[in-house]
Amino acid sequence: MTSHNGKSFLEQVEAGFDRAARLTAHDPHLLAQIRRCNTVYYVTFPVRRDDGTIDVIEAWRAEHSHHRLPTKGGVRFSMSVERDEVVALASLMSYKCAVVDVPFGGAKGGIRIDRSQYSDRELEAITRRYTFELVKKRFIGPGVDVPAPDVGTGPREMAWMADTYVSLSAGDELNALACVTGKPVTQGGIAGRVEATGRGVAYGVRAACERADDMKALGLTPGVEGKRVVIQGLGNVGSHAARFLQELGAVIVGIAEYEGGIYGKDGLDVEAAIAHRAERGSILGFAGAEDVEHSAAVLEMPCDILVPAALERQLTAANAPKIQAKIVAEAANGPTTPEADVIFRERDMLVIPDIYLNAGGVTVSYFEWLKNMSHVRFGRMQKRFEEGAFRRIVEGVEHLVGERMPEGERARAVHGASELDLVNSGLEETMISGYEQVHEVRAQHAKDGADLRTAAFVDAIDKIAAAYEEMGIFP
Ligand code: NAD
Repeated sequence: MTSHNGKSFLEQVEAGFDRAARLTAHDPHLLAQIRRCNTVYYVTFPVRRDDGTIDVIEAWRAEHSHHRLPTKGGVRFSMSVERDEVVALASLMSYKCAVVDVPFGGAKGGIRIDRSQYSDRELEAITRRYTFELVKKRFIGPGVDVPAPDVGTGPREMAWMADTYVSLSAGDELNALACVTGKPVTQGGIAGRVEATGRGVAYGVRAACERADDMKALGLTPGVEGKRVVIQGLGNVGSHAARFLQELGAVIVGIAEYEGGIYGKDGLDVEAAIAHRAERGSILGFAGAEDVEHSAAVLEMPCDILVPAALERQLTAANAPKIQAKIVAEAANGPTTPEADVIFRERDMLVIPDIYLNAGGVTVSYFEWLKNMSHVRFGRMQKRFEEGAFRRIVEGVEHLVGERMPEGERARAVHGASELDLVNSGLEETMISGYEQVHEVRAQHAKDGADLRTAAFVDAIDKIAAAYEEMGIFP
């Protein structure tokens, strides 16, 4: 679908690819292969409503790149879902996995429904039938294609998908639970997955803010502490990004939701704002903040960092010139149109691109998949051993200095890594080293005026091209 103000979402992703592809020396035919979506499955199926009527449901699954298997990507429940949206999102997944070295190809699925119009029973029937259709055509499986949550879905939907897949495999498939990630921890999920994307966003923003030269060029001081942040979307990604950014010392000054927004120049208590919205059903009317009736206006209010965490195509030629932030941190997929991107470049702003910044979700999904394949909880084998070893070291030091460590410090020093500790540590490592890589590639292409998005695409293209070349299937 092409919008009246420029390129469609799919064209937007392809434009990002093309800009970067020009900076590489790969065979144009190989580049064409990397850019194209390998497979799209479209299916319709009926669902019986609670009132006895029947709805025909439309659904898709796109596998963009099979250079690594399984392919991986979320499932979205939304009325915006259509073929090209799913293909655009699947493409972003391929590049994202490559940037953060998650050894998967990219995929995405979607069901075209307004989930608020369906009961829980109906949603379960739709999710299970969708899974069944994917199984029939081999578009799901631990080594084939592994869905995860996205807009409108969460752990509950993933549990329904896993249960359907496991039931259909009738116990024959040892690794069946690895068919989907983002499951509840009690159903084979992993600690820390729900908040992983938002936590990763906070780590990525911190990594960017720690670059003193980049901050100086923007007229900002180094460090995330004290930076004023506006967030769009208080869903899974946005709420956790806001929480963790606040934890790292940033000041959340604005929140935009679809019903309106709030702004408070001295900072908002994120936890209280989330609780207020859960209780009242609206972000408006939050004590100590100013109501902004028109949600989109919040994006244009004074701040240092703007975090779009709702949907694609929110920053356009129309509002880009009015954005006051110096940094745009793309927590959502595809929030910046190519026209807005040009304006941000002309205004010397720093855009931290989606294919790096929101990769925390797929990173921890990868950890969940590894956990399911290995059939053991992370930390189970070494936690007690580590604690014993740390305790002996602490006791040795205490013996030498003739004094016992204060209890709180002692408990921290002898703590062995739990699953959550290991997941968060792996996530932090991924986001920090991912930023270093992208930053380095940008420096290599500085003479061509590469920004971080172009650098992230170049990095992804180089890695996917290397995979094809290593396989030797491209003579
Ligand atoms: P979600 O459904 O949990 O949250 C989206 C939120 O945005 C909702 O609260 C919704 O009300 C709000 N919203 C919708 N339109 C809005 C508008 N015009 N203005 C302000 N708010 C609006 O979805 P999510 O999982 O948090 O995903 C958000 C974005 O992050 C999407 O682009 C998604 O593809 C991307 N993403 C999600 C994950 C993940 O792990 N869930 C991982 C990577 C990227």
